[in-house]
Amino acid sequence: MKVTRASYVEEACIGWGDSESTNGSGNGELEYPVIPVNQQTNTVETPLCDVILPYHTGALPYVEEAVRSILNQTLAQGQNQVVLHLIADGILPEDDPVVSQFEYLANVRTYYTEEAAGPYVGCLQAFQYLESDYLAIMDGDDIALPHRLEYSIRKLKETNADIFGGCMLQFVDYRNQDDSVLDRWNEIPIHRSVKRKDGYTVVNCTMVIRRQVFEELNGFRDFFCGADIHFIQRAFDAGYRFHCAEEIVGLRRLMSSSISNNRHTGIGTDVRKEIHAQQQSDFQAIKDGAHPRKFGSLDQHRRSKALIRSKPEKHQIHNLEIHVTHACNLACKACSHFSNENVGTNVSLASLTEQMSFWSHRIAPKQFSILGGEPALNPELTEIVRECRKQWPDSRLILVSNGFRLVKHPLLPQALEETGCELHVSIHHKGSEYTQKVEAVRELLNEWQNEFAFKLEYRSSSEKWRMTFEGEGAEIRPRDDNDAEASWKICPSKYCPQIFEGKLWKCPQVAYLRLMNRKHQLSDEWSEYLDYQPLEPYCSTIELKEFLERKVETICKMCPAENYFFDLPSPLRSQ
Ligand code: SF4
Ligand code: SF4
Repeated sequence: MKVTRASYVEEACIGWGDSESTNGSGNGELEYPVIPVNQQTNTVETPLCDVILPYHTGALPYVEEAVRSILNQTLAQGQNQVVLHLIADGILPEDDPVVSQFEYLANVRTYYTEEAAGPYVGCLQAFQYLESDYLAIMDGDDIALPHRLEYSIRKLKETNADIFGGCMLQFVDYRNQDDSVLDRWNEIPIHRSVKRKDGYTVVNCTMVIRRQVFEELNGFRDFFCGADIHFIQRAFDAGYRFHCAEEIVGLRRLMSSSISNNRHTGIGTDVRKEIHAQQQSDFQAIKDGAHPRKFGSLDQHRRSKALIRSKPEKHQIHNLEIHVTHACNLACKACSHFSNENVGTNVSLASLTEQMSFWSHRIAPKQFSILGGEPALNPELTEIVRECRKQWPDSRLILVSNGFRLVKHPLLPQALEETGCELHVSIHHKGSEYTQKVEAVRELLNEWQNEFAFKLEYRSSSEKWRMTFEGEGAEIRPRDDNDAEASWKICPSKYCPQIFEGKLWKCPQVAYLRLMNRKHQLSDEWSEYLDYQPLEPYCSTIELKEFLERKVETICKMCPAENYFFDLPSPLRSQ
């Protein structure tokens, strides 16, 4: 065999037997849902707010702070309610030190333009990618306070307004302490959004707009700078409702390289003068009866090809696995997933969906394996198979099961056919009692195959069963052969990284050792192995690549450096 465990996936091990459900699973028939899974409520929220954050080369030293201040919004805590659109304006990906830090996050979209077009044109071009009902503008050199979006949207809802404006505390960047910047800071320590007698001033980086309103007004005019003032006046003229609050919702960085201060586009430059003249002409035309919508530029830019999505490359790997239950109805001695020890229970569809979503936009496994424990102990198995296909659309999908509990899932064969998921039935003993029980499984699967087309394989998993550690239960001890290289070389699990508790783990032994420890409080001999750090979902692209390419590492010395084969006793649990 293919040794015990999920080794080369094709040989992934499972449990079978026909014993009572384990203490660990605590399931059995009683936990099968009364409401079909596909009728249960979806836990994934629709985003509430899009944030567009364009940045130019002058803002590069500050963008990271701006991005993190949006990622840390209270509105986004625990739920992906904020979608952040990062636009590198005139910065190619290879010259952008920022994008690779954030592109992997599920709620971050990244784009670039080859020619700088200014932040407002960037917003117009990105409009087609918005996903929610509210749009917030963020500057690449400013910092949003954590409550900015939560506060603004709450106020918009409470007051039924269309556009929110707040205040920003200004500060001088430590790299820009020249006199003119300091003077401006002394003059206006707080930049406020306020009502004027003939309109409003809304600080750009505090602005939150109902998306529909932005569209109705045909967006910003495609000025390189100053288009926010133009937009706000048109919104006022068109009769939209404003809510300006005294609340400080951000920190505004004063510096000499900002768009409003640099020598090319800053106040007083020819560019500004030209824009100002155009602005006055537009305002006069509106006074003379033109509709404010006429002076927006969204229609011209919303299908622009100038904005290029810089989708991160997915990391290709051979195989990736997930446990849909940590319980098993078999008890194979020395199970390298510790599933014979009743170390855990079923993992819910909602949890699996979330855990996979942390990684499915970053990793492209050739093969994705649905394992346990015995997967059929999980009452949501059919929906889990469908969800796995959604998350891994291009992977060979394999469900590994002993077969004994498949009878509990009458809708599974249809899902196997529709998702192209293969079913691999693993046989764990040659004894007559076991073989007899497998016959019933074969009959069931023959019936399924008469009706549905799916690939079915039977494989022996007990022929070369090996010890991966010493002892049982709380008494287990690592092999400690002290030859990590040799251990890794013969390791059947070396291409079996696991998604477990949302993180990425090197192999099943390392991942599920945690469960074993939670149950038995293992001896100090395991301490160094229990100190292993899995990869967190918020890792950078570089860290992910390094993790996936890592081969032998120190922790491998806990495993045997040579094969210690033994005859696996019947894994059937006593009735
Ligand atoms: S006890 Fe372990 S090795 Fe045996 S079938 Fe279950 S998961 Fe596989
Ligand atoms: S720790 Fe290393 S040798 Fe042991 S199972 Fe994991 S990958 Fe294999």
